[in-house]
Amino acid sequence: MLGLMQQQPLLVSTLLRHAARHHGAAEVISATEAGAVHHTTWADSERRARQLARALQALGVREADRIGTLAWNDYRHLEVYYATSGMQAICHTINPRLSPDDIAYIINHAGDSALFIDPGFAALIGGIAARIADHVRTVVIMTDPAGMPALDLRPGMRLLCYDQLMAEADDDYAWPSFDENTASALCYTSGTTGRPKGVLYSHRSTVIHAYAIALPDVLDLRATSRILPVVPMFHVNAWGIPYATALTGSALVLPGRHLDGASLARLLNQERVTMTCGVPTVWLGLLQHLRSSGEKLATVRRIMTGGSAAPPLLIEAFRDEFGVAVEHGWGMTELSPVGTYNAAKPSQVGLTGEAAARHMLKQGRVLPGLDMKIIDGDGHELPWDGKQFGDLLVRGPWVCSSYFGESESACDADGWFATGDVATIDPDGYMEITDRSKDVIKSGGEWISSITLENIAVSHPDVAEAAVVAARHPKWDERPLLLVVPRPGHTIDPRSVLDSYRGLVAKWWLPDAVLVVDQLPHTATGKLLKTALRDRYRNYYQTAATKEE
Ligand code: AMP
Repeated sequence: MLGLMQQQPLLVSTLLRHAARHHGAAEVISATEAGAVHHTTWADSERRARQLARALQALGVREADRIGTLAWNDYRHLEVYYATSGMQAICHTINPRLSPDDIAYIINHAGDSALFIDPGFAALIGGIAARIADHVRTVVIMTDPAGMPALDLRPGMRLLCYDQLMAEADDDYAWPSFDENTASALCYTSGTTGRPKGVLYSHRSTVIHAYAIALPDVLDLRATSRILPVVPMFHVNAWGIPYATALTGSALVLPGRHLDGASLARLLNQERVTMTCGVPTVWLGLLQHLRSSGEKLATVRRIMTGGSAAPPLLIEAFRDEFGVAVEHGWGMTELSPVGTYNAAKPSQVGLTGEAAARHMLKQGRVLPGLDMKIIDGDGHELPWDGKQFGDLLVRGPWVCSSYFGESESACDADGWFATGDVATIDPDGYMEITDRSKDVIKSGGEWISSITLENIAVSHPDVAEAAVVAARHPKWDERPLLLVVPRPGHTIDPRSVLDSYRGLVAKWWLPDAVLVVDQLPHTATGKLLKTALRDRYRNYYQTAATKEE
């Protein structure tokens, strides 16, 4: 027997309509290119998104068309998010930090018919115009007429100005209703191995994810919250925050292009931000700025950190010096992206000092709606003892089922998606990433966690950044090799770094060698590019052994 309740599809436009109708005066604030701050409201954002939908209709955009964006976090980008999805087209956010070759590949693979870009990316698009001319018919620069850059496109491609387009459109548009399983947005993985793959979110997955991340034990969003996503809107929909803040009517503060410590501190204080979200590198930059300038954070209470493991010093420094809680979340493009969040259960409430900081290193508990498990090499589920680590699998309504343009499933027969991460889960259900499966070091049949070794290395006072990679070993198969970058003005003594492992890990986990390097390679999303390091240092111990003979 079916229930007798209304069938209202879960659509992205319903979030925006709710924000406009019930939190119309709540603010949407953007730091602009010129260093000024632009203020608008959720009511005005909804009206302008309708106006943009009208403009898109006039340009010939139809349902299921992919509309690419190359843009920083600001109000125009937000309007493109909602207008495209709301009219049943697909908002395809593109990471401008990828190589031009990957960007051209992604635009063609997605089949984008129009691009909405910030003026700063005009040269990038000019450089690949010939390669994308088969699909892209329109390039809209997100600026006013005075800010239009020179851009040579190919014949058949038109160049338009966003503000002019908006000025010519009315807002006489009603958001249509359609199947909640319709695609709403597309985002490609950063592709550290092989070509990027497209993850195609649906209206339903996006709305459910927004509900889940707004929960008290996740972002704890309220109408009185003021949220600044430093995480870019081109990186997994800024972790879903543009949707979740509309759901809760929170103020949304968009930081634009300048993500350095000084610019962020200014915006956080000036706009009375209560919570901010981003990757550890950003928080290290902010910490450095706060320490050197003596500035404080007046209103920020919590920082959500994710994307890569947060070093312990980050959590302790913000807590002890600035009274700000750094909270760990974990996710990935294929998970919309949030999968876990580290919020206390009753048994963690009393934790203090070292024990509290140690607990906060864990990536957290699974969000309700998802399930997770860890398995060994034979596919058997491992116990939740906080010690044994295995491949992490997840499933749930905001997990990708297959990649865009690929016919085969991305999951196993029971719907489990292999994350490619290796993790432990403790008896309370807190998951801790110990590695990417490709990064784990397999020494004599046992596994060594590269993240654990890196976290200890970056706690050393002379070390700014560290990477541990597996290098082939004639006896043990693989052994850890530690690469460290000195903090400015410091010199690293490799023996003293090795000493810092004493008592913290088993002796056989210690790196066999420590190399001091000037810098480490990073991916377009700021993560350590371990593939490049592995390629370079894979034979380090074999070569070293040959030299010694
Ligand atoms: P992406 O799809 O680019 O967001 O990358 C997802 C990957 O980033 C995950 O599979 C993890 O390897 C890593 N990651 C995300 N959040 C965390 C975190 N809090 N700690 C450690 N690794 C993380």
